[in-house]
Amino acid sequence: MNQTHIADLGTMLPPDRISTGESVLDLHAKDQSHHTAVRPEIVIWPTDRFEVAAVLTYANDRRIPLVGWGSGSSLEGNPIPVQKGIVLDLSKMNHILDIKAADFQADVEPGLVYQDLNEKLKHTGLFFPPDPGARATVGGMIANNSSGTRTVHYGSTKDYVLRLSVALANGDIIEMGSRSSKSSSGYDLIHLFVGSEGTLGITVAATLKLVGLPAEFSAAVVTFPSIQDAGKAVYEMMRFGLNPGALELLDPACVRLLNEEKNLGLTPMPTLFIEFHGPSLTYLTELLDMAKEICDDNHCLDFDQGLGKSERNRLFEARHELGEMIIRAHPDSHIRSIDVAVPITAYPEIITAARSKTDQAGIPGYAFSHAGDGNLHLCLAGKKGNAQDWSLIETISKELVTQALSHGGTATGEHGVGIGKRSYMTAEHGKSLEYMKRIKTLFDPNGILNPGKIFPDGP
Ligand SMILES: Cc1cc2nc3c(=O)[nH]c(=O)nc-3n(C[C@H](O)[C@H](O)[C@H](O)COP(=O)(O)OP(=O)(O)OC[C@H]3O[C@@H](n4cnc5c(N)ncnc54)[C@H](O)[C@@H]3O)c2cc1C
Repeated sequence: MNQTHIADLGTMLPPDRISTGESVLDLHAKDQSHHTAVRPEIVIWPTDRFEVAAVLTYANDRRIPLVGWGSGSSLEGNPIPVQKGIVLDLSKMNHILDIKAADFQADVEPGLVYQDLNEKLKHTGLFFPPDPGARATVGGMIANNSSGTRTVHYGSTKDYVLRLSVALANGDIIEMGSRSSKSSSGYDLIHLFVGSEGTLGITVAATLKLVGLPAEFSAAVVTFPSIQDAGKAVYEMMRFGLNPGALELLDPACVRLLNEEKNLGLTPMPTLFIEFHGPSLTYLTELLDMAKEICDDNHCLDFDQGLGKSERNRLFEARHELGEMIIRAHPDSHIRSIDVAVPITAYPEIITAARSKTDQAGIPGYAFSHAGDGNLHLCLAGKKGNAQDWSLIETISKELVTQALSHGGTATGEHGVGIGKRSYMTAEHGKSLEYMKRIKTLFDPNGILNPGKIFPDGP
């Protein structure tokens, strides 16, 4: 970009919504991943779809790279502006446009943080289930197709987008989807944009599907002598259709951290956090009994159960903070978060491999998973600037991705491809990657939108 570009953009928006200040550029140079920061040249805060479209048209005509920005909480470098240019920070487009409670729908702007949406929805008895944990925006969640602890029961973000308004690189704004809960009409463009990481267009509004808040909750914390036993119990609970609201596996390293930070007093062994939702306590008690039977059959050491929302909140709020705790525990390190997902039968094998590879390498590592959907997170702490640590971490990452793909799984269950998973795209998608490239060229012929992401041969 040159000074003329900066000056032109300055005439398009008020001065308080455009910045080239060093600290602002730094704040938009890096997400929460270990990837190298790259400063954009300018940050712009649009307040409506027409401003988004105008900036896109300007950038497209001049081949200026442009990256959408929600909260910057990604874990794979997804919003890092690797080719500099413009960062479009959507955080001022954060309004709830309409709540149609009777139809279980909310119309929202992309910069709305999902926890704020759920807070506003409380009085309606409804909520938006995907819960990535960090203070993520709806636009960022749609772009990454984010999930969370409740995905095993409710699905991921892609299951909750009914309508989408997207500003394209050429400045066109297109609307897709309908208010109907089902449709067989034409190509499913919504699911093309969900998970596209801002490489096809910028979301300017969405209609989200909502569901009823469960009436009752129960939770259990179950310890096992080995990760294999815990993994097998997960498989059995899913096979018997217990349909947990959340089913999370934590290795002893995670449990120790939770004990240190939250004083939970848990036994530092492989541990399952289980949550059930349902219409009555009787129903939940029955489910807990069945879960206990399965865990007993798989040699569990302890099954600590509790009924009610406060018990469930105490445990799951701690679980939600785990990612932040790991970052805090290693101030001299960057954290690499491995995010493979496999079919449920392969889950015990992949989590066991993750733990043993980490122990062999001698790198501080924390294995925790959205176990019910076969999604492993292995967080490895590599010392900043320590080439040996990072070489070991990359080897572990490569081996686990290869293992996951050999089971028909994926390199990324929920964090997206970003920068770090690009090299696995050919192995995972084969010839269909060529068609993804053609789709990219159709929507963004000049390659201005979030360049350097998803495709292995991008700059
Ligand atoms: C502690 C911690 C825990 C996490 N746990 C989870 C988890 O359990 N599950 C999970 O899925 N993720 C998790 N994440 C990752 C992250 O929170 C999610 O990917 C989240 O959805 C990103 O949202 P964001 O608003 O921060 O988006 P950003 O990081 O700002 O952007 C994400 C992507 O979306 C694009 N983008 C942003 N807004 C738009 C828009 N309006 N239009 C088009 N493209 C746009 C960006 O260019 C980028 O490619 C975690 C992160 C942290 C730090």
